[in-house]
Amino acid sequence: MSLSFDPDQVSLPIGHFVGNRLLESPGLLPMRRPSDGAFYAECPIASEEIVDEAVQTARKALKTSNWGGVRPRERTTVLRQWADLIESEAETLAKLEAVSSTRPVGQLIAGDIAVTAEQIRFFAEFADKEGSDLVPTDEEHLGMIMTEPFGVVGAITPWNFPVSMAGWKLGPALAAGNAVVLKPSELTPLSSVLLAQLAVKAGLPAGLINVVLGDGLTTGAAITGHPDIAKVSFTGSTAAGSAIMANIARTGVKPMTLELGGKSPQIVFADADLDQAAAAIAGSIIANAGQACVAGSRLIAHAFVAEPLVDAILARMKAVRAGPTWDATTTYSPIISERQRSRIHAIVQAACAQEAERLTGGVPMEGNGYFYAPTILANVDHSSPAITEEIFGPVLTLQTFTTEDEALALADHPTYGLAAGLFTRDVSRVMRLARAIPAGTVWVNRYGRSRDHILPTGGYKRSGIGKDLGRDAYHANRRSKSVLIHV
Ligand code: NAD
Repeated sequence: MSLSFDPDQVSLPIGHFVGNRLLESPGLLPMRRPSDGAFYAECPIASEEIVDEAVQTARKALKTSNWGGVRPRERTTVLRQWADLIESEAETLAKLEAVSSTRPVGQLIAGDIAVTAEQIRFFAEFADKEGSDLVPTDEEHLGMIMTEPFGVVGAITPWNFPVSMAGWKLGPALAAGNAVVLKPSELTPLSSVLLAQLAVKAGLPAGLINVVLGDGLTTGAAITGHPDIAKVSFTGSTAAGSAIMANIARTGVKPMTLELGGKSPQIVFADADLDQAAAAIAGSIIANAGQACVAGSRLIAHAFVAEPLVDAILARMKAVRAGPTWDATTTYSPIISERQRSRIHAIVQAACAQEAERLTGGVPMEGNGYFYAPTILANVDHSSPAITEEIFGPVLTLQTFTTEDEALALADHPTYGLAAGLFTRDVSRVMRLARAIPAGTVWVNRYGRSRDHILPTGGYKRSGIGKDLGRDAYHANRRSKSVLIHV
């Protein structure tokens, strides 16, 4: 069976999903397919009133379903049914996602979608296994740390992995007994609507997931500033994360989890397995054309091995197959928009004007789609935006070192601390550097997440506050209450 399909034949669930209905509102933001630039729909913008309707629907649904107070296994059962339905509807979901996003259909079913279903099952299992604790006190008292859901959680997600990012937010929030008002990116909102429809079909009481479409300034701000949203969970850029913190500070006080940008280093020592390192490094900057928060965009290589390593990475970059996301043979993604592609190109050109050397790429690819060639830049000035800013594109910079201290100094980015890669056979060095590198995740002799969902993900520095995945994500969706009983 070929998964290739005609993008004009995909039906689009356009509207705000509130309760169990698709609400219409004027469509204002044009949506274009990144693969060919074609206009295909307009994204409506949810006003404050629509956001409020979604929040009140969520509150009512919590009350009538008693979702936060039912026997926890009931939540587990419903979420497992939802995960099963996501798998059985994977092809429909993949087609919808491939039309609007940068994710090739061939990578969606076994990748993003299968992993999302697994992660929902992972969080479903927490519901009846983590709870209140009795704590030691004197014999006249009984002390208890009770945990309870927040109520309505506001979730805001980016465009780079729309299904996965929605799953990261919805899975733990629902398992923990909350309702959610989710705002996906205005560039890729539709797969989140379908996910929510599938949840209701799977037995989730209507109103527990509401999806409001729109931009950050109107719809996003209405969520973060809403007095009945008890907690905000955000994934996106550091700039938007700061704006959200400011809006929360201005409108009230509530907890938030912020998963933000990155500029992750990959350090390769002279004793590393170079083939293994090249595969991991090339993979991390080719995947989704570098549009990943954890993209390993800064190669820091020992001077002794830099040349053969770069040759091996170049060979892998040359082998990518750019093509429409609806072609099952495509392995290389377009950039999300023409605007973002121009930004990437401007950063590359600025670096080259400061005497950076282009080892490959550095140019937009031909055709109507927003493709950008995989790029390696050497001799980049340390003050260049190519080093200081998150490019969010397929651009790898090369820096070299001779001592471990030099490598560590280069790895330590002044702004970001999301992830890092370390390639060496020396176990003592692994332990030393895993501690010393200021990042939320350190991958050793591999790069990128595995299917071990128990490992949380999140940033140091301005890469974020709090974690997604792992136990942390479940607990971040419940709050504790201390109860002391005099007996
Ligand atoms: P973005 O910050 O522009 O937008 C993300 C979401 O926030 C969108 O839904 C947008 O509409 C909304 N938004 C923007 N401004 C807002 C505001 N003031 N108030 C409320 N909502 C607002 O990011 P993007 O371009 O969609 O995604 C790329 C960014 O996301 C990159 O920086 C990337 O590193 C980051 N990201 C981080 C992780 C992680 O786990 N740390 C994962 C994926 C993506």
